[in-house]
Amino acid sequence: MTVTLFKKDNCQGDSFIVAEDITDLKNTPVKHNASSMSLTSDSDKILLFQKTNYNGDAMFRNGIKQVTKMSSPSKGGKTGFGNTVSSARCTPFTINLFVNIIANDDGSFEGLRSSDEELETGGFDNFDSFIADIVESANNVWHNFLIHLEVSEIVLRKSSKLHDLKNELYPLLWKDWQKKGNANVYLVRGIHKASGICPPVGFGKGAVVSCETPTDIAREGDILAHELGHYFGISKHEEDSQNLMTKHSDPSAGILTDKQVEEAHKTLTKHIGRTSLRNE
Ligand SMILES: [Zn+2]
Repeated sequence: MTVTLFKKDNCQGDSFIVAEDITDLKNTPVKHNASSMSLTSDSDKILLFQKTNYNGDAMFRNGIKQVTKMSSPSKGGKTGFGNTVSSARCTPFTINLFVNIIANDDGSFEGLRSSDEELETGGFDNFDSFIADIVESANNVWHNFLIHLEVSEIVLRKSSKLHDLKNELYPLLWKDWQKKGNANVYLVRGIHKASGICPPVGFGKGAVVSCETPTDIAREGDILAHELGHYFGISKHEEDSQNLMTKHSDPSAGILTDKQVEEAHKTLTKHIGRTSLRNE
């Protein structure tokens, strides 16, 4: 795979192959003046940022293509990216997930866990494997867009009232059940008239996923990936049923447009902690 930045338009002039993440392009042959770019393999993907250390506006491109003029949308580029490309990222950012599991008062969760009493006498408890499975499924989507989800902590909460959400979304999010620098996820049994719900980023700060069908990992992973999309700042739904951000009842094909990916990464520079600059 090769992503090459060029100093002049039409893939001309001094060039630099992005073989690893670069926090500051100033010491490369293209400096901060990359004007065009080529991607030569299907698996190529790149995030360019207007500022050093992967900050500012982001431009995402993947697959085989040429951006013959970085600042021109009609030539594959993006407005604002003329002589402003300061850092480049080709490996995923890690996002830590702080997962709250909202069980019933007695600790039970249909399909996933017995009550505390039953657990003592040999009941089942498979939250960890369920969470690992749906996060792996969501990662199959987000890895394509340079985001890696990692579970940092799973905490069991007991509240029959919040276990099956009707109108208690905000009471749930107002609980002090969040961890700074993490993407906060809430797993509930059900949500009135929805499979998942996520208020706009910057408010509430939590993505709620319902677990109506614990055995359908693809569907549950898709709900998680979709709600995290909202969490990462993608507010609108799309018409294309293959797009991750459409309203649907079947697992999507996990497609995101470049614009959606850019929206997410721009949000992540500001609102939610990305771990370490480099993810080795
Ligand atoms: Zn949605």
